[in-house]
Amino acid sequence: MTTHTERDTDTDVHAIVDEQLRRSRQRYTLGRRELVDSLLHLGRPVTIPELMDAGASQSQSSLYRNLAILEQCGAVHRLTSTDDAARYELAEELSEHHHHVVCSICGRIDDVVLPPAIERALTEAANEAREQRDYLVDSHRLELVGTCADCA
Ligand SMILES: [Zn+2]
Ligand SMILES: [Zn+2]
Repeated sequence: MTTHTERDTDTDVHAIVDEQLRRSRQRYTLGRRELVDSLLHLGRPVTIPELMDAGASQSQSSLYRNLAILEQCGAVHRLTSTDDAARYELAEELSEHHHHVVCSICGRIDDVVLPPAIERALTEAANEAREQRDYLVDSHRLELVGTCADCA
């Protein structure tokens, strides 16, 4: 399953990443494009070894460097999981608003899109936080923790 919405073709995603990299005075090299393609098609936050397994043709050191540059320009988000391994996914600007379900045993993370009623309730929670603590809430994260199909 991929996380990007139907209206966002892969071409649109590449055009946005290209623009983000330009703003950071970086080029959209083939290695970076390959990484964005892998993240698009894997459709969940993945570790560096998983990116290598997915057929990355670049060395592990270029992969680290390219991920760091993509992260700096805002195209890629880095997450940590219950196993402390870093995982990478495309920024929401390039996919769609979603949340994560995390395996407490192996650390795998999958994307989940929640029903609109829950998203509305989370918006209300943001308003509540503003009233109670005077925070200006501009986004939210929700992590569901459990056991993945492989670990069950
Ligand atoms: Zn698991
Ligand atoms: Zn949400």
